[in-house]
Amino acid sequence: MKVSEYIKAKDLNEAYELLREDRKNYIIAGGAWLKLSVKSANKLVSLDALGLDKIVVLGDSIEIGALCTLGQIETNELIKQLYDGILVQAVSSIMGVNIRNIATIGGCVMGKFSFSDIFPVLEVMDTTLVFHKQGEVSLMDFLNNPKFEKDILVKIKIKNNLGKGFFKKVAITALDFSVINIACSKTDGLFSLSVGSTPYIASPCYKAMDYINCLSDINLESIKECANKVVEEIKFSSNNRASKEYREELAKVYISRGIKQVSNYEN
Ligand SMILES: Cc1cc2nc3c(=O)[nH]c(=O)nc-3n(C[C@H](O)[C@H](O)[C@H](O)COP(=O)(O)OP(=O)(O)OC[C@H]3O[C@@H](n4cnc5c(N)ncnc54)[C@H](O)[C@@H]3O)c2cc1C
Repeated sequence: MKVSEYIKAKDLNEAYELLREDRKNYIIAGGAWLKLSVKSANKLVSLDALGLDKIVVLGDSIEIGALCTLGQIETNELIKQLYDGILVQAVSSIMGVNIRNIATIGGCVMGKFSFSDIFPVLEVMDTTLVFHKQGEVSLMDFLNNPKFEKDILVKIKIKNNLGKGFFKKVAITALDFSVINIACSKTDGLFSLSVGSTPYIASPCYKAMDYINCLSDINLESIKECANKVVEEIKFSSNNRASKEYREELAKVYISRGIKQVSNYEN
């Protein structure tokens, strides 16, 4: 990667102005993806001096600074408790310790990667993104807006909830991108379901959630019906990793297992 200038921003305003000044100026976090995807940059703007690498509890949320590495998240005792540790499970499934000690949660979110193992998990937890200029933005508003204005992600906020959680990544080899990934949660009696890497970016399964959350009780039939609804509403396709049909079968199997696990269903 060719870079004309490297600037360590003194504050968020400076970083924001530099980012907006030229389309060839980039924020650099871990740089793991940026260095692979961008051939040349005018200015690389580092946020290293801005203290965005902390994980703290504030009010009823856990706040994760955008510069926290996946390694920091993986070893954080609070995050291990959150929804049965599904964020830790998702993060631990990404590459090896060396990459996880470089790659940041901010880079994962801002990359909007279709293969992301983080998004399904963030989608089934109560997650808000906090930007420098635009302030608090819901995760889904960010993901669904292809014209989201250039901004600096400062932190992500997750409701500190001890709800139940399930995460599954299916990949051909341990270090590969997902063939599919699935997250489920249950909080205050309500299920939340998300499927990603289909190979499209993760999406909540709204119709399946509406269905299962209206039932007074679940049984094997209703779990099967819910899994079928997931396959009906989510778009699956084939690529060099897996066929559409294989992804659909995996989604049915792991959505069913996820629902059973988060509801302690035994049968
Ligand atoms: C070889 C390899 C394999 C991977 N495999 C997986 C995988 O299996 N599953 C998975 O989920 N992920 C995977 N990833 C992605 C990885 O987890 C990180 O998401 C990725 O490396 C980006 O993190 P980073 O900190 O290096 O960001 P960078 O590369 O520094 O930045 C990525 C993008 O985000 C922007 N950005 C970064 N931080 C901010 C901020 N605070 N505000 C605004 N913009 C910002 C940058 O300008 C850039 O456009 C892989 C990455 C690599 C390199």
